[in-house]
Amino acid sequence: MPPSFDSHGSMISRRQALLATAGLLSTGLHAATSKPSKPPAPSVWPQDLRVPGGVARLSLGPAAQRPLAFTGEVPLLVLGDAIEWTALVGIPLAAVTGEAFITVQTSHGGTRQLAYSVGPKQYREQRLKVAPGTVDLSPEDEARYEREHTHLAQVMASFSEPLPAALRMQVPVPGRRSSSFGLRRVFNGQARNPHSGMDIAAATGTPVLAPLPGRVLDTGDYFFNGNTVWLDHGGGLLGMFCHLSAIDVQPGDVLQTGQRLGAVGATGRVTGPHLHWSVCLNRAMVDPALFFSA
Ligand code: ZN
Repeated sequence: MPPSFDSHGSMISRRQALLATAGLLSTGLHAATSKPSKPPAPSVWPQDLRVPGGVARLSLGPAAQRPLAFTGEVPLLVLGDAIEWTALVGIPLAAVTGEAFITVQTSHGGTRQLAYSVGPKQYREQRLKVAPGTVDLSPEDEARYEREHTHLAQVMASFSEPLPAALRMQVPVPGRRSSSFGLRRVFNGQARNPHSGMDIAAATGTPVLAPLPGRVLDTGDYFFNGNTVWLDHGGGLLGMFCHLSAIDVQPGDVLQTGQRLGAVGATGRVTGPHLHWSVCLNRAMVDPALFFSA
């Protein structure tokens, strides 16, 4: 028997009630209940581009308090005011095209689903030659990568307050921005994950600046990404800065837009010095260019 819309809705409602009871949704519930005063209403939203790797800007309509919204079980960034709330949905590069849904919690405790449609986008292919050991990993490197992968999944799951007060991002490094987001990459003839960030060519040592205010979430030296800094801009909006030659911050540091977090380098799996910058929204890597002024 196929599940009906209603049974699905009530299942989600029960699950959320259970999670809330267990305290697992406390951050999100807190967001909806503890701040009746003015929440951030950014004057500049990211570009609404409903394709894999894009961002959907979905109106949730008016409500006295900020509604909770989810994609699957992942909380979404909801901004606006009592006149109109907007959910920002990061669409993963691996998303299938067609109809998709978010779940919105209604004021009387139920849920409703809101549909949007993900259009097709054909990203170009990029062929790269790198050191053979960074494509066919040794057992030791494979084990290291697995550990890092688990750690990074935890980092990416961060959803913190305060929510971002602004969404227009400053370029973290002046330089030549490649339109490299989403490229289907082939390393030494072998297909690998698509390129989930923006590469900016710059000399080793060039300062890397925070594109938005944020708290340093994680720093480390990772197999593929090299020296890396993660910034938490709030509400599940994160930035990842890779291949750094220097890291100038520590977890917990709070940076304002334009403050230095490190320097461009060539650490990790690279073909030369550059900044790799990823923007992560509800655990999906989306095109950073969508956050520049349109
Ligand atoms: Zn890159």
